[in-house]
Amino acid sequence: MTQTSTQIKPGVVTGADYLKLVKACKDGGYALPAVNVTGNNTINAVLEAARKNNADVIIQLSNGGADFVAGKGFPDSTLGKILGAVSAAQHVHMMAEHYGVCVVLHTDHANKKLLPWIDALMDHGEAWYKTHGKPLFSSHMIDLSEETLEDNLSECARILKRMVDLDMSIEIELGVTGGEEDGVGSDDDIGAENPKLYTQPEDVLRAYDTLAPIGHFSVAASFGNVHGVYAPGNVKLRPEILKASQDLVRKTHGLSDKPLDLVFHGGSGSEKAKITEAISYGVFKMNIDTDTQFAFSQPVGKYVNENPKAFLYQTDPDTEQPYKKQYDPRKWLRKAEEGMIARLDEAFADLGSTGKSVAAK
Ligand SMILES: [Zn+2]
Repeated sequence: MTQTSTQIKPGVVTGADYLKLVKACKDGGYALPAVNVTGNNTINAVLEAARKNNADVIIQLSNGGADFVAGKGFPDSTLGKILGAVSAAQHVHMMAEHYGVCVVLHTDHANKKLLPWIDALMDHGEAWYKTHGKPLFSSHMIDLSEETLEDNLSECARILKRMVDLDMSIEIELGVTGGEEDGVGSDDDIGAENPKLYTQPEDVLRAYDTLAPIGHFSVAASFGNVHGVYAPGNVKLRPEILKASQDLVRKTHGLSDKPLDLVFHGGSGSEKAKITEAISYGVFKMNIDTDTQFAFSQPVGKYVNENPKAFLYQTDPDTEQPYKKQYDPRKWLRKAEEGMIARLDEAFADLGSTGKSVAAK
């Protein structure tokens, strides 16, 4: 535990401030939820939840989420993924500071096919940097876990070299996190016997040796975690794999405790005790998507069931009572936001980050 309390200017945190925030999480024994967003409603729900819980947070966009921000009718889906991510990032830059919390801005899984998306985002990031003196995104995630370890690390090294000039960080993936995330990965990977679901500490050491000399990186290592929610018993979480990786890197390089900044993918539906254990081994970020998707949608279903006529008629066919107040999209979208915020209250509590914001007041 550190005694000197970290203070960071509220808003999107990047570069040295991002590293300070990661350190504050690890020193304080807590982690931040990394929440997938798809538009202003989900972004604002995350910002509101963070402010309400006096917690810092990570906002991330998958390629599909970014495409949705641009609009499903946007004429070019490749460009939509790029401009949608830029647009969402600009909204976060505009608003985060005024919510009074620290927000890490990140993109989610990009496999080999999606590397041109990342390159284009860095082109936009360079332009943003020239104007604002800070990067557009705090970090990008590159998931080349389907490639050989050799190819995964050499490509991540190439990309990190470019990111370093923008004060950015990279998140990499080693081993296969089971399940499917926005078309990346496959359900076929699921099964407790699949050794690929458990990253080898030697591979993590190789990643450290390759990337640490270049710049800052974080690692999503597989320890039996899966994307999405699956029937319990299909996979067994073994967070001790994370500890073994930390220990190997620490001993090999004579470093202090927990040298690696670790990320927990596929956190939805995980046992609380395993989450706490993973955090104790240096996990500072846990992705959450599936559970917040359900939390956003569930109250809308309930609301529609409670007000069925308002979703069939503008005015009541018998009483002529207008239903405008019920069907106004702000009414049910607000229910959705409130549902997501309630689920994030739980996420902050599970990760120990409630009340831990390092934003300067
Ligand atoms: Zn992953």
